[in-house]
Amino acid sequence: MEPPRQGPVQDKGPSTKRADPELDAGVYMNFMRNHCCYDTIPTSNKLVIFDTTLKVKKAFLALVANGLRAAPLWDSRRQCFVGMLTITDFINILHRYYRSPMVQIYGLEEHKIETWRAVYLQYSINSLISISPEASLFDAIYALLKYKIHRLPVIDPESGNVLHIMTHKRILKFLHLFGAMIPKPRFLQRKIGDVAIGTFRNIAMVRDTATVYDALSVFVERRVSALPVVNEKGKVVGLYSRFDVINLAAQKSYNDLDITMHQALQGRVCYVEGVIKCYPHETLEVIIDRIVEAKVHRLVMVDTEDMVKGIVSLSDLLQAMVLTPAGVDALFS
Ligand code: ADP
Ligand code: ADP
Ligand code: AMP
Repeated sequence: MEPPRQGPVQDKGPSTKRADPELDAGVYMNFMRNHCCYDTIPTSNKLVIFDTTLKVKKAFLALVANGLRAAPLWDSRRQCFVGMLTITDFINILHRYYRSPMVQIYGLEEHKIETWRAVYLQYSINSLISISPEASLFDAIYALLKYKIHRLPVIDPESGNVLHIMTHKRILKFLHLFGAMIPKPRFLQRKIGDVAIGTFRNIAMVRDTATVYDALSVFVERRVSALPVVNEKGKVVGLYSRFDVINLAAQKSYNDLDITMHQALQGRVCYVEGVIKCYPHETLEVIIDRIVEAKVHRLVMVDTEDMVKGIVSLSDLLQAMVLTPAGVDALFS
């Protein structure tokens, strides 16, 4: 591929530098400021780039075939990257064009990526948010949280090549591995219920009897990354994340979105067993170890009856441990 003539929009990062005396988390803030995106890039990784003239259905099937969650989009007329294609886009297409199991999903069957973007971009980010390999992890976290995205391409400014797609998971894993060399901050021993890191009100959830279409509607309206699935007593019985929606492409079952959440959870090919939970009395250290080891994007906070009390997402942890100590609020601004 030719290098782009026009560079993508690269986030310059926040300017505020106030310290928060509440948490002695300046340690992690400094760690993230002192390491750059390049440090986290694996020696080998698979990357797929889609031309915007490709049909959306082919693109999502290609993501599945390659075991990927997202791909940068290349506009060959403008000779530049113009955005990303993620599972959220698949969700938005299904939700917008689905009619019934008897009717083909027009937008999915007919649209090219560029046609879909012309419809959708009026409501969304319309340029690529990317970061340079030299930028700090602090700036990467800021961009992920500020733009409320989960995929941040690392682009070499010299060649214009995408080197890697940065995620919250990758950053926290890096901290978990290499942060062991720095002194443990005291606040890791605090209880998650006391530090209130996470969302504890108005949690978006679905019943196990709700349809997949209902779940897609909640994803679209609330823009959350996952939904605890609850039974008739309100106890959590599953977790349906945006990632799980890609199973509909993998199994070519997207024509029937009237199946229940229970059926959808059972039918997943690649998933995590059970629900990865946490309790308000558990320490931040325990929570971080669990979320990294389970390789999930969030924990569901429950009480002893398994009733949902909150969501502790990687976004919440990175905001609290890295951005808040710098006086920067990207997640809730
Ligand atoms: P997912 O959680 O499904 O991977 P995201 O939350 O990252 O998706 O994406 C939300 C929306 O933002 C999607 O429409 C996606 O195309 C867009 N998007 C994601 N990452 C970027 C980026 N780096 N630059 C521009 N748009 C992006
Ligand atoms: P991504 O890597 O795209 O951020 P997620 O972590 O949201 O993906 O989801 C990856 C898989 O892990 C999905 O099958 C999802 O259902 C599962 N998963 C995510 N969080 C939890 C959780 N707290 N409990 C159980 N399964 C989870
Ligand atoms: P995420 O998209 O998971 O990175 O999280 C962004 C913000 O949304 C965080 O503050 C989460 O706690 C919150 N959040 C994630 N899932 C839910 C949900 N199902 N209901 C309410 N808030 C959520």
